[in-house]
Amino acid sequence: MSTNPKARAWLEVRADALLANYDRVRASVGPEVRILPMVKADAYGLGANQVVECLERRDPWGYGVAAVSEGVALRVAGVTRPIVVCSPVPPGDVDQAVAANLQPFVGSVGTLEALAAAATRRGATVDWHLDVDTGMGRSGFAADRAEEWLDDVTRAWPGLRLAGLDTHLHSADEDAASIHDQWARLAALVDRIELPEDGVVHILNSAGALRAPEHACSMVRPGIFLYGGAIGTDQPRPDEVVSMKASVGHVREAAAGTTLGYGSTYAATSEERWATLTVGYGDGLPRALSNRGEALIAGARVPIIGRISMDVTVVDITGVSGVDVGSVATLIGHDGQEAVSVDEVAAWADTISYEVLTGFTGRLPRMWT
Ligand SMILES: *Cc1c(COP(=O)(O)O)cnc(C)c1O
Repeated sequence: MSTNPKARAWLEVRADALLANYDRVRASVGPEVRILPMVKADAYGLGANQVVECLERRDPWGYGVAAVSEGVALRVAGVTRPIVVCSPVPPGDVDQAVAANLQPFVGSVGTLEALAAAATRRGATVDWHLDVDTGMGRSGFAADRAEEWLDDVTRAWPGLRLAGLDTHLHSADEDAASIHDQWARLAALVDRIELPEDGVVHILNSAGALRAPEHACSMVRPGIFLYGGAIGTDQPRPDEVVSMKASVGHVREAAAGTTLGYGSTYAATSEERWATLTVGYGDGLPRALSNRGEALIAGARVPIIGRISMDVTVVDITGVSGVDVGSVATLIGHDGQEAVSVDEVAAWADTISYEVLTGFTGRLPRMWT
């Protein structure tokens, strides 16, 4: 038995905006550069299968994931393009990665050995990407210690084919100079590593692809910008891809002094009107927005008052007309002239758009338009 997905709380995802943002990345890097859309973490919470289905129209080179299970799920869904696992593959996942023909980032000799063993066992050839650490520090072969690993790593490994060379940027959204610096560290190695004819060199995330397309090399790996997250306050904003909506489940008048919510952290200061929205932190609305964030309703911006509960959130609608049980509030997105961006929500919650998007829980239906 299914229920009405637009009754309680839901996400609306705009395919046309996703494609428009992809086109902006394409326009920035030009027609020759391959694009590897990052669809890790269920495509930043929006739904990997739907995102892939939509992006297929643009014929991307492949897809990027972080977990082997995510790559396997894409194979099960019928994806035949290259799938690159852009995070260290733990030993327990190596066999699955080979079985699903995934292309892992490799940043240690131990992983190479495990991959070679698994590939040989299965009679498979694994395409892998030599992951170089140029300042991120969390994975990859250290660029400044190449003499320790270069010869061993670039020799012929049974069952393995070196298909790419990559690094990951640490500050592309805040500091363009860091992109050039990280590129220079990788560039010092490029001539010493032999790639096949179809091999790819790739370093740029969304911010890099839009701010420093001169370093696009043969491929870029955009994520957040595709999904509507800004890439720095000085850059043009992406189109709005996702909106978060919820219904009004209850409306009341509150006399001065009436307390609200867990901890009674809010009390009406005069005669107020409150609307209870049927959405809470159990849906992924950050609890940090308690007494801090805003929502849109009937075209007006209204404050979130009291603590956000797991299932409901209360807004002060004093002076706003046309709100009743069944009205629809916007937590992210636009309503009339007003808009709340995912970045604004992230700022209220002292976090980044990535965490807001990936925090949406399974209780929220994703409604594609
Ligand atoms: C997540 C990720 C990206 C995409 O980064 P955005 O900032 O979302 O564009 C690119 N490369 C790697 C290795 C990643 O993990």
